[in-house]
Amino acid sequence: MIKKFGFVFCLSAFSLLAQSLPEFADSLPNPISDENSRILDQTGILESSGTKHKLNEVITHLEKETSVEMTVVILPSVDPLVPKQVAIELFRIWGVGKKRKGNGILILHVLDQRRIEMEIGYGLEEKLTDIICKNILEERAIPYFELGAFSVGYESLFDSITGVLKSDHAPFLKVLGESSEKFPKPTEAALDEIPEGLEAYLDPSSESREIWEQRYPIFLYMGILIAMIGYFFLWERRDPWLKHYKESHYWETRFRIWASLFLGFSFVCIIISITSFCYAKWGGDFLPQFIAVPGFFGLVLFFFTFNWFKKFWEDSLQYLPIPCKKCGSKLYPVFDETDREEYLDQNDSKEESLHSYRFIIFKCKLCYAIEKQRKPDYRYEEYSSCPNCKIRSVYEKTKTIHSSTYDKEGEEEVKFKCIYCEYSNIKNRIVPKQIRSTRFFLRGGAGSNH
Ligand SMILES: [Zn+2]
Ligand SMILES: [Zn+2]
Repeated sequence: MIKKFGFVFCLSAFSLLAQSLPEFADSLPNPISDENSRILDQTGILESSGTKHKLNEVITHLEKETSVEMTVVILPSVDPLVPKQVAIELFRIWGVGKKRKGNGILILHVLDQRRIEMEIGYGLEEKLTDIICKNILEERAIPYFELGAFSVGYESLFDSITGVLKSDHAPFLKVLGESSEKFPKPTEAALDEIPEGLEAYLDPSSESREIWEQRYPIFLYMGILIAMIGYFFLWERRDPWLKHYKESHYWETRFRIWASLFLGFSFVCIIISITSFCYAKWGGDFLPQFIAVPGFFGLVLFFFTFNWFKKFWEDSLQYLPIPCKKCGSKLYPVFDETDREEYLDQNDSKEESLHSYRFIIFKCKLCYAIEKQRKPDYRYEEYSSCPNCKIRSVYEKTKTIHSSTYDKEGEEEVKFKCIYCEYSNIKNRIVPKQIRSTRFFLRGGAGSNH
């Protein structure tokens, strides 16, 4: 049934394109003559609960008792027509109500606009005034429709109309009981089954979600493209450019700025893409996912790249010019190898070749003043300072005497030796007990050791 409905729904939506009002009204089957039913439901929304039959009985019963003719039309869309005009036109061409009495009621429900129109024959206008109709719709029907409880909404709506029509005294609204008492709002499990293809019509955010569904791949491709451009135009050509601009410390900094920009833009695009995807997929309940999904990726990325970026910037900022204390001009870093060697003594060169320290030589272009900066290099931790020759060139060699277990500490022999002089030293060191980290992990967070 749902499948079949989907097909009908697609067809009717398609045939609506560029139709005039009379053409459109003509295309709808008159429920009174065609189906022997007072309800034309092109959405199938009343099918799952079997309410359609029940509602039809209410209408025929009302007709027998009061001769009032009522018909209901539920459509997925009337686009590009106006629901009110469609209701008037259908009321006219179908001739709802007895001609001399003018006692017809037509209810048009347009789902994509979430709009209900009530057309009342002139014979009933005294009882079903505009204000009363508005009141009935807003108080007795729409609160249920908003929940997705269409069957209950229509039962309540019909009950209210019948109540007003059967009463003889004004004010007519007083004859209606409290609708919430008579028709309790159903729980989520008891709501009407929404036919396939209609979810979008019943969801007010569906339009913007569709737009973002189209946009998210664009942002994804943009992010990838920017990252690729960054890779080929910056990273791949980095070395030749750096060599070419070796004299200029600015180039390195400039390279880093561009690389950060490319990475940043690429990252932003991908985050927008993920965010759009979440919105398109989850719509109104989007907030938790918005915080969870891109926030999670963002945090992970930030966590893994933070130190790298920090080092990246610290490194490049080290080469920025510094003020000259002598003449007030600026000191610039020296990159040329032969120039540098002039200003480095033997010990400096030894440390630099071990990468325990590196030296940045700054030179003033006006007064030729020199400043030498000594910074820990990437193998700084592997060495310690030699008490004999003062160079950071002492390395350790460890030999296990007995290894540690879970229950017992171990012991090892550490041999300290300088690379450049005769200095050497031997010390014994305690190795701490091993920790049962894997076992604890397998047991889960609440585990304890016995
Ligand atoms: Zn100077
Ligand atoms: Zn030494």
